[in-house]
Amino acid sequence: MEKLNIKFDRLSKADALELYRRNDLLALARRARAMKERKSGRKVFYRVNRHINLTNICSSNCPLCAFQCRAGDQRGYTLEHDDIAKLLDDARNVEDLSEIHIVSALHPTKPFDYYVDVIKQVRRALPTVNIQAFTPVEIINFTKLTSLSIEQVLRILIDAGLNGLPGGGAEILSDRVRSIICPKKATAAQWLEVMRTAHRLKLQTNASMMYGHVETIEERIDHLIRLRELQDETGGFQSFLMFPFHPSNTELGRQFDIQPVGAWENLKMLALARLVLDNFDHFKAFWIMLTLPIAQLALAFGADDLDGTIGRERIINAAGSTEGTSITRSTLERLIREAGFEPTLRGVSTCD
Ligand code: SF4
Repeated sequence: MEKLNIKFDRLSKADALELYRRNDLLALARRARAMKERKSGRKVFYRVNRHINLTNICSSNCPLCAFQCRAGDQRGYTLEHDDIAKLLDDARNVEDLSEIHIVSALHPTKPFDYYVDVIKQVRRALPTVNIQAFTPVEIINFTKLTSLSIEQVLRILIDAGLNGLPGGGAEILSDRVRSIICPKKATAAQWLEVMRTAHRLKLQTNASMMYGHVETIEERIDHLIRLRELQDETGGFQSFLMFPFHPSNTELGRQFDIQPVGAWENLKMLALARLVLDNFDHFKAFWIMLTLPIAQLALAFGADDLDGTIGRERIINAAGSTEGTSITRSTLERLIREAGFEPTLRGVSTCD
């Protein structure tokens, strides 16, 4: 593979907008790939992980969401500790499993102790696995349930065995956008404050962006710059992942007649984000949201991580993703090799 020598200056908002409007996809790809190679060479990472979604019963009722349902809805479910024990029994037999990833709805009546006990249960069953659980939106919900501070909530979860927070719930960090797509969810400032606190407590975290709904291009770039500023301050984000809004089965999609984002736009935004987020080492191509073919192509647009073998995932599936929810390690490795990179298995305690 050709070695690329490109010099990088930090992009301003105006620079990023100019690159976006120029719409030169292959020039963006070349620069983003050079940035990726500067950070992680020819390696492309993947993880053997399992996702657990504890409940889909939610008090937040976000218009963007296809996963939620109200208490009493026949589609509703909540995993109790026996259900989780069965999932963990299965997970115990997975070779090289390094992560349990837990993201859920905001259940209206489950107490904070339930979530703490889940973390303790996972830790007991899988003593060495990385537990990445609860987005900043869920952490803010726990502070409301308990009247504890963000730091107090995180310390209790860390004591139970938590290693890190997923990057979800960021959507677009603009209060104008959030007032439309998720008005009851944590604000942009709260999302950032949870991450700032988590970084201070040495939790591993990711950052994310969900685009392709009611936001402007300027708001996408502002979102990236807010993440870059926090990363300058703390250095605590390990990876960035971005994914398009899936309008199927959502109130937001119906209300604004939103059409799914195309491949060109997905790849263009990925490459642009890689260039704006010059202080992030790792970019995930979240195949379950992008589809496998686009996720593989994303490796030529700055991504260096084909995220996870996943297992059973319900949130994205509810939003109409046509991808399966599980993939074998050998398939991920084949896709990475086909793109000319070296598949590299992420371990339990390493970020690269
Ligand atoms: S996006 Fe999250 S908080 Fe909002 S309704 Fe869906 S599950 Fe609930």
